[in-house]
Amino acid sequence: MPEGVNLVLVSKFQPDEAIMEAYNAGQRHFGESRAQELIAKHSRLPEAIVWHFIGHLQTNKVKAIVPFASLIHSVESLKLLSEINKEASKIERVCDCLLQFYIAAEETKFGLNMEEAVALLTSEAYADMKHIRICGVMGMATFTDDMVQVRSEFEQLKTIFDTLKNEYFSHAPHFCHISMGMSDDYPLAIECGSTMVRVGSAVFGSRNY
Ligand SMILES: *Cc1c(COP(=O)(O)O)cnc(C)c1O
Repeated sequence: MPEGVNLVLVSKFQPDEAIMEAYNAGQRHFGESRAQELIAKHSRLPEAIVWHFIGHLQTNKVKAIVPFASLIHSVESLKLLSEINKEASKIERVCDCLLQFYIAAEETKFGLNMEEAVALLTSEAYADMKHIRICGVMGMATFTDDMVQVRSEFEQLKTIFDTLKNEYFSHAPHFCHISMGMSDDYPLAIECGSTMVRVGSAVFGSRNY
């Protein structure tokens, strides 16, 4: 990976042995998309692993993952952020989060639009949250071979990041992450300004669901 770009190795559906092979080669950041799987793997695998939660998160799963997730990439509502804040406060920690944006032309994907993000960031509820820290943005491009379209979606997310940084986080050095890029598109994502790529199958091979 180029300097300044972090690799989150997406280990969902991968067996412990595959994760340990990457761990023994020096990888520490792993990404999971299901709460139960993250918790189970956290309990079995080395303490030094830094777990990222990258999947769609339901509010009723927040309590279970907040103690174990070092970064939650998929915050797409004020309600979810409030729940994370509440559960993090109970265990007296600050939970790092990214705001997930809807940049794809696919209805199956999740995320905020700019208007919703502004409403969230200017709300009183957000101003009162002491147990979350927003560290940047995340997005998933459309699943397509059309790299012109994917590039325009990544550029859109970079613009969103720059706008939020200027308007709301100019004095917040921790607001520094753009999580974008997966196995099929991470080189392009890096060209467009990604600081964190989430790569699974390109490293592990295809998943056995
Ligand atoms: C599964 C997943 C990835 C990794 O996908 P690959 O194509 O295997 O690299 C990245 N991000 C999210 C949110 C995922 O769910």
